Amino acid sequence: MNLAEPISKWGAEATRWRRHLHMHPERSFQEHRTAAFVQEKLASFGLEVRSGVGGLGVVAELVGEGEGPVLALRADMDALPIPDSKECEYRSRVEGVTHACGHDGHTATLLAAAAVLSELRGALGGSIRFLFQPAEETPPGGARPMVEQGALEGVSEVFGLHYAPFPVGKVCVPTGLMMGLVDTFTIRLRGVGGHAAYPHLGADAAHGAAQLLVALQSIVSRQVDPLRPAVLTVGQLSAGHNHNTIAEQAEMRGTVRCLTPAIRDTIRERLTSMSHGIAAMFQLTAEVQYEEGYPPVVNHAASAEYVGRVCRQALGADCVLPMPPSLASDDFACFLQQRPGCYFMVGSAGADAATQFPLHHPRFDLDERALTVGTRLLVGIALGRLASTRKQGA
Ligand SMILES: [Zn+2]
Ligand SMILES: [Zn+2]
Repeated sequence: MNLAEPISKWGAEATRWRRHLHMHPERSFQEHRTAAFVQEKLASFGLEVRSGVGGLGVVAELVGEGEGPVLALRADMDALPIPDSKECEYRSRVEGVTHACGHDGHTATLLAAAAVLSELRGALGGSIRFLFQPAEETPPGGARPMVEQGALEGVSEVFGLHYAPFPVGKVCVPTGLMMGLVDTFTIRLRGVGGHAAYPHLGADAAHGAAQLLVALQSIVSRQVDPLRPAVLTVGQLSAGHNHNTIAEQAEMRGTVRCLTPAIRDTIRERLTSMSHGIAAMFQLTAEVQYEEGYPPVVNHAASAEYVGRVCRQALGADCVLPMPPSLASDDFACFLQQRPGCYFMVGSAGADAATQFPLHHPRFDLDERALTVGTRLLVGIALGRLASTRKQGA
C-alpha cells in the first residue's frame, strides 16, 4: 500500500486548515465555527457525521469493508484566552484569543488522517471513529459529556496526540502514568467589619487570609511524602473594601496538582481542616469549595507499546524520547478511564524560534512539518490495528 502520496497530499491540506483555524480561534465551550468547519470537511470525505455530541463535539464514523473492532482517534479544538504575540500571516484575527496549545494542529491532523483513511476504506477490517472534542482547556471539559453521550460506545481502544516543543520527528510515548490530576478550590473567610482604628471590635478577614495563605504552603512541604510530586498554588486573593476598614470578607482561589488520588485526598483534607482551624483562631468562619478536575492521564501498557512500535517504524529506531510524568493535565484522561488506549506527544519544534516556545506561551507556534508526521502516525496506528485483526479473523 503506497501511503506516501496521500499522506503528503493531505498533510499539505492540513497546513492550510490549521492556518485557517489559527486565524479564527475559539475559546472552550464556544467552538461553534470550528465544529462547523470540522463537520463540513468530514462530510466531504463521505463520512457519517454527528454534531452536538455532549455540547459542541463532532463524531464521525468510517466503516471499513471488513469485520473488525472500532478504534477511536481524538483531537481537541479549543484555543486559549491569551493574546497572539506572533508576527505572521496566519496570526490570530480574534483579539485576546490564540491557539497557544496547538489544538488547531491536532484538529487539522485528525482531519487529514480521516481523509487518508477514507480513501483506504476497502483495506479496513473494522471501523474508525473520529472524535473532535471541545473545551479541553477548561474544566469540567468537553471529553466527559461526549463519553456520557456514547462517543465510546463499541470502541475497543482510543488514541490521541498532542504536539509539544521538542524536535519534529521525535515522539514521547509514556507507559502508565503520564500526567497528573488538577483540582480547583475556593476558600471564603468571613469576619466582622469595622473601623481600622478599632481592630479589637472587629474580626479581620484580611489578616486571617494572610495567615492561611502562608500556612497552606506547609501542606505540600510538611504533610505530603517528599518523593510524591504535588503543588498547591493560590493564584487569586482578595479582601476588604477600603484602606481604613477592617475587612469583613476574604476570598482565595487556587489549584492543586498531583499524580495520584490518594495524595489529592490528603491535600484536600488538610486544606479543609487548616482553613477552619485558622479561621477559628482569628474569630472568623471559613467556607471551602473543592472541585475535582481532570483525572490523571494513564496510558495502557499494551497500547503504549503498540504506538511506540508504529512510531519507530515510521520515524526510525531512535525517535522515542523518554518522558517522566508531569503535573500538566489533559481530559483525554476521561477517555482512558473508559477504554484502553494511549496519549502521546509529537515533536513540533523546528529552526524557527517561535516553534520552541513552551505550550501556552503567547508566541507559541508549530513547525508545520509536524502535521505530516502526526497524520502519518495516526494513519499508521489505525491501519496496524485494523489490518492485524482482520488477519487474525481470516
Ligand atoms: Zn493547553
Ligand atoms: Zn493542549
